[in-house]
Amino acid sequence: MPLSRPERIAIVEVAPRDGLQAEDRTLPTDLKLELLERLADAGHTTIEATSFVSPKSVPQLADAEDLMKRLTPRAGVHYTALVPNATGLERALACGVHDIAVFASASESYSRKNLNRSRDEAIAGYGPVIKKAKDAGLRVRGYLSMVIADPWDGPTPAAVVADLSRQLLDFGCDEISLGDTIGVGTPGEVSALLAALRRGDVPLAKAAFHFHDTYGQALANVLAAMSEGVTAFDASVGGIGGSPFAKMAGGNLATEDLVWMCKGMGIHTGIDLDKLVATAHWLGEKLGRDLPAHVSKAMRANLGS
Ligand code: MG
Repeated sequence: MPLSRPERIAIVEVAPRDGLQAEDRTLPTDLKLELLERLADAGHTTIEATSFVSPKSVPQLADAEDLMKRLTPRAGVHYTALVPNATGLERALACGVHDIAVFASASESYSRKNLNRSRDEAIAGYGPVIKKAKDAGLRVRGYLSMVIADPWDGPTPAAVVADLSRQLLDFGCDEISLGDTIGVGTPGEVSALLAALRRGDVPLAKAAFHFHDTYGQALANVLAAMSEGVTAFDASVGGIGGSPFAKMAGGNLATEDLVWMCKGMGIHTGIDLDKLVATAHWLGEKLGRDLPAHVSKAMRANLGS
C-alpha cells in the first residue's frame, strides 16, 4: 500500500527561540536578526523569534524587546513570541507582536518544575491571557509539552493530552503544538495519541507536532502523524534546542532533515534546502559547535568543505 501523504505541510521554525535558549553561547541581537532574515529568505513563513519569559530564567533571550522592535516586518512571514503570563503579553503587545504562543505541560511534574504551578492551575491561568490576546487580534498558539511521557511521571495518558488540547482550543488558541519534549515517542504512541485526539474532538487541522530526536524517532513520528492527516510540524534549523533532561542527545527535529524527507516524498514545504543548509552551517560557526542535523552534515561532507 502506498504511503498516505499530504500535498504540503507547514513548518514552524523554532530555532531562534526553542533552539537558542538551550545554547551555552548567547548570540548578540544583530546575529539573531540575521538568523531571522536568513530563515525568512529560505522560505519560512512562521518563525518563533523569541520569548517574553523572565530574562533571569532565560538570559539567552533577554533582548526580546530590542529584537522585536528592530525586526523588519515581511509580508507573509509570522514572527511569534512565547508569552508566559499577562505580564509577558503586555511586553509583547508593547513591541507590536502579532503572534504569540503560550506553553503548558501535559504532565504534572514538569508543570511544577518548569512553570511552578500545577498542570491545571497553569492551564486555567492561560484562559484570561489567551482571551486578552484574541481580543487584541493576535494569533495564539498553545504548546503542550511532555505529551508522550515525562521523566518523573512516566507515560502521559493520551486522553489527558486530548482534554488539555480541547481546553486550550476552547480558550481561543488557533493551534496546539504537541511536544514530545524528551523525544521518547515512537509511531505507536503517536498513533494512539491521534486516536485520543479524534475521540476528544480535537480537530487535527489545528494540531501540530513538535518532535525531539533524542532516540532517533523524530522523522518516523512525523511520517506516522502525516499518514493520519497532520500537516503542521515544528522543526529547528541545525537541530538545535534540546530537552533539559537529555542534554547529551539530539535536540529538536532538524528542519533540514524534515525538508529532505519531504522533498523525496514530493511534499511541498516552501523551503529552499540549500539556503536552509547554508544557514545551519553559518549558525554552527556562530555558536561554535557542530550542530546535530544529519542533512547539514551530509551536505557539508559532499561539498568537501
Ligand atoms: Mg523543543
